[in-house]
Amino acid sequence: MKTSIATASLGGDLSEKLQAIAGAGFRGVEIFESDLLSYNGTPADVAKELADLGLKPITFQPFQDFEGMPDPQRARTFDRAERKFDLMQELGCDQLIVCSNVSQDSLGGIDRAAADFRELGDRAAKRGLRVGFEALAWGRHINDYRDAWEVVRRADHPAIGLVLDTFHLFARKTDLDSLRSIPGDRIFLVQLADAPWLDMDPLSWSRHFRCFPGQGDLPILDFMQALQATGYKGELSLEIVNDQFSGGSPRAVAVDGQRSLVYLFDQLRAKDSKAAIDLPTMSPRSKCLGVEFIEFAVDERTAGELGQFFSGIGFRNAGEHKSKAVTRWSQGAINLVINQEKEGFAHSHYIMHGPSVCAIGLKVDDAAAAVDRAEKLCDTPFRQKVGPRELEIPAMRGVGGSLLYFLDPTSKLASVWDIEFDAVKPASNSTEAGLTVVDHISQSMHYEDMLSWILFYTSLLDVRKSPQVDIRDPGGIVRSQVVESDDGALRITMNASQSLRTQSSKFLVEYFGSGVQHIAFNTEDIVQTAKTMKANGVPILEIPENYYDDLEARFGLPAERLDVLKANNILYDKDADGEYLQLYTQAFKDLFFIEIVERRGYTGFGAINAPIRLAAQSRLAREHSGMGL
Ligand code: MG
Ligand code: MG
Repeated sequence: MKTSIATASLGGDLSEKLQAIAGAGFRGVEIFESDLLSYNGTPADVAKELADLGLKPITFQPFQDFEGMPDPQRARTFDRAERKFDLMQELGCDQLIVCSNVSQDSLGGIDRAAADFRELGDRAAKRGLRVGFEALAWGRHINDYRDAWEVVRRADHPAIGLVLDTFHLFARKTDLDSLRSIPGDRIFLVQLADAPWLDMDPLSWSRHFRCFPGQGDLPILDFMQALQATGYKGELSLEIVNDQFSGGSPRAVAVDGQRSLVYLFDQLRAKDSKAAIDLPTMSPRSKCLGVEFIEFAVDERTAGELGQFFSGIGFRNAGEHKSKAVTRWSQGAINLVINQEKEGFAHSHYIMHGPSVCAIGLKVDDAAAAVDRAEKLCDTPFRQKVGPRELEIPAMRGVGGSLLYFLDPTSKLASVWDIEFDAVKPASNSTEAGLTVVDHISQSMHYEDMLSWILFYTSLLDVRKSPQVDIRDPGGIVRSQVVESDDGALRITMNASQSLRTQSSKFLVEYFGSGVQHIAFNTEDIVQTAKTMKANGVPILEIPENYYDDLEARFGLPAERLDVLKANNILYDKDADGEYLQLYTQAFKDLFFIEIVERRGYTGFGAINAPIRLAAQSRLAREHSGMGL
């Protein structure tokens, strides 16, 4: 199967779109009429541009309001079609896509539609062209692929075939069984689009929420398996009209599209080893065994303050890099790295973002396999100069240009701390706070980027995405999406907001881009941890009294327990699985903050408490900026 993408899936002008599409490795492209009409040149100029980029125009679309028109409109639709045929011939494109009629004037009846298509087929065939028919979910008479197929079948013309679009098919909740019996050579084109499950009218749903396969909830893989049964060998095309994509960089969106197809084919091959797909073999998604380290980029002055902040929450200086101004701070299985080098990647990250998380080191089952897969998924590799006593830790670019390093327990990478660092003896006065592992990492990003990072994480690592949650912030709504491994070894929460006034959006402004806004560590005794942090003078986020009154009403906790939670600013939640306790530090330099969590069987993230936390943070931010009352 060959892959292509519709120009309507990207923002930019037609030339930018075509360059991005070719750059991402596509060879086929669907030309949208409006892109052609707004192009400053003739269709022949576009044909030349396509040829120069090695792209083949596989369709020209959409041709609307065709079948079932009464006279005199019927005659006019045929004239209109002939003019499109002229244009297509200039463009060097041999296939027109007709979408099912939405006009109030159109008449129903499969036979009437079939007769129209038979005549259109004759006209197209004279010029060596073909016509595909696609049922729109909101078509007036034809809105089901099974009816569109019946029209094509009865038209019984070699130049007339069926177009399948997964969005329309799933939006109508039509079953896939009938698909299996359609002969593959009667299907002229397959368009792939995913979407989150939403209860809304199909037209708005399609316009605003279509996304690439793997970014939404539709069972695209089931569709692909059913399609295998037809013997279809034509193009698989991404037709995604989505305001988030048209606002993004055409190049990044095209690469995301390619990544979504590589991942889809990889999943299909795992289900059906005989699937006719042209894809190099790939290692399976890497199993993440945990977060090995989190690296912070700082300058000399901030390094001391950050070290102090870490020691307040129970970390101790455990190692000094043998050749660089890099320090390791440890507690339990957690490693934090403070990098104050004056050159290299971390330094550029610091210049760009200020004190920040510049890299995350993930422990995976096989680091080399993870990087190999990432490269096949069109992720962006990262390399920098490796010093004499240093290991080359494989890395890819992650959120906001930060790095994702991969380490594993079987190669030399397992000894990175011994190889690169001189151990520091624990100071006699160091007090651990009982922290054990990284519980989750929270990244804030632009709303338009969220789909991109969902696909990045889920295609590369053995993680699943949970349903999106909308959280109330005093400045608007924050959308939150979790990707996590089944055993919780890796949990990443991504936050984005369309309002510029939320904490999440303000972070993007202060930070100058996407990045880690908070890190949560696990403790087995949050009260003890809270007491240690308090004794160490760590500024904790204060939670208002009202919260605890409400907590009492909701859960009926005993008074003594409530007092302890209140005294330590601990937030509480409980579900069928168990209890969740959390507390937050104030933000370091108003940039990132630390959360402490104790899980007692609970697997969520305390979403119900998030508005309380966001309100407390926004109050604090106002005070810090001198606007507080
Ligand atoms: Mg379509
Ligand atoms: Mg959290």
